[in-house]
Amino acid sequence: MSVSTPELQQRSLAAVWHPCTQMARAERVPPLPIQRGEGAWLYDFDGHRYFDANSSWWVNLFGHADAQLNAAIKQQLDTLPHVMLAGCTHEPAIRLAERLSARTGGALGHCFFGSDGASAVEIALKQSFHSWRNLGQAEKREFVCLKNGYHGETIGALAVTDVAIFRDAYDPLLMRAHIVESPDTRCGIEGQVKALAAMRALLEERSPQIAAVIVEPLVQGAAGMVMHSPAYLRALRAMTREFNVHLIADEIAVGCGRTGTFFAWEQAESPEWPDFVLLSKGITGGTLPLSLVLTTEAVYRAFWSEDVTRGFLHSHSYTGNALACAAANAVLDRFDAGQLERNAAQSKMLGAAFAPLAEDPRIEHLRQRGLILAFDVKDAPERFAEKFHLAARQHELLIRPIGHTVYLMPPYLIGPATASFLANAVTNALNDVLLSA
Ligand SMILES: *Cc1c(COP(=O)(O)O)cnc(C)c1O
Repeated sequence: MSVSTPELQQRSLAAVWHPCTQMARAERVPPLPIQRGEGAWLYDFDGHRYFDANSSWWVNLFGHADAQLNAAIKQQLDTLPHVMLAGCTHEPAIRLAERLSARTGGALGHCFFGSDGASAVEIALKQSFHSWRNLGQAEKREFVCLKNGYHGETIGALAVTDVAIFRDAYDPLLMRAHIVESPDTRCGIEGQVKALAAMRALLEERSPQIAAVIVEPLVQGAAGMVMHSPAYLRALRAMTREFNVHLIADEIAVGCGRTGTFFAWEQAESPEWPDFVLLSKGITGGTLPLSLVLTTEAVYRAFWSEDVTRGFLHSHSYTGNALACAAANAVLDRFDAGQLERNAAQSKMLGAAFAPLAEDPRIEHLRQRGLILAFDVKDAPERFAEKFHLAARQHELLIRPIGHTVYLMPPYLIGPATASFLANAVTNALNDVLLSA
């Protein structure tokens, strides 16, 4: 039976409540029905194709319907799709935890599984607070996040998220967190110094009440690809250690090779890892939901007791789902086989293709970290993001700017031709939007 685009759009609007969407507006700009995906391309029902420049919300690392990931999932599906991880265990979860621990040199040797990014954030916040409590420091129950930081949208994660459009309506429900200046590189070295001074001032005053600082290492994604230097992270680690406060590295968006190293944290060249590192999004290469929290022996030991209530009793029904773990292991196989080297070459091609745009007077702050590239549009017209998204579709590009920031977070499938296709499509969409404004 053949289906038409308008019919699917109408049925979707009637029955599906779309995320991150004002549904009244969706009536006028209906969702695009996608029939299938292959590599970096998505295909609609009318014979058009679109390059998935945002990797379907930053999850799809190796393209759609990747044969290796699919094979790993199919094999697991016929063996053991799922078993609960309390009272039972399974090999895909064990292997995944061991392999990730090895990637931290054993520093983060304990892996707790969740299902979405936000659930990993909740787990880390609870583990931080509860470990202090178990150590007799129950007064350490406040959290610190960075300005414009994003850590998810459940009630706990939203409390450490500083994005007004997601947060404001729920503000009365949220725990109070401290929000500290971000070391945005657009504000220069001065901005970084100020951000560190503000963090120090807060920790000097309140560290006995503070459990943890949570950051997105190197790139604050949802803020609009706001980047900072590895030196900031190194200084922040030293400072949180000095004041006896946990550091949570939320690598849900920046992990899995996105910024050039497997963990973004590796670029900090810090003598010490954070107390918690969170992964989700890319860890299953855009196939199945999975998240995980890696933590230290010290945190783990704080829960070790014959007393059940001192344990970490948190759970989700699909915790450590075997299919998702099998997919994640297949993702790690790619990294064991030279993915970071391939990413370094791709990152160069992307940068070279977009370099001429730096001269364009209509944009500013062209910036890149690994396979994230972004720029800000000056004097952007009203509803720029939506206009740009629609214009780009006419050039076979699926892209969703954040405010006036246009960014690419493509699948790791960039070649010279793809890179110049992307630069051309972005420039054409920019011309369409700005010349018609
Ligand atoms: C996407 C994201 C989250 C939340 O993950 P979900 O799977 O959407 O719940 C948390 N932190 C960061 C940095 C993210 O980019």
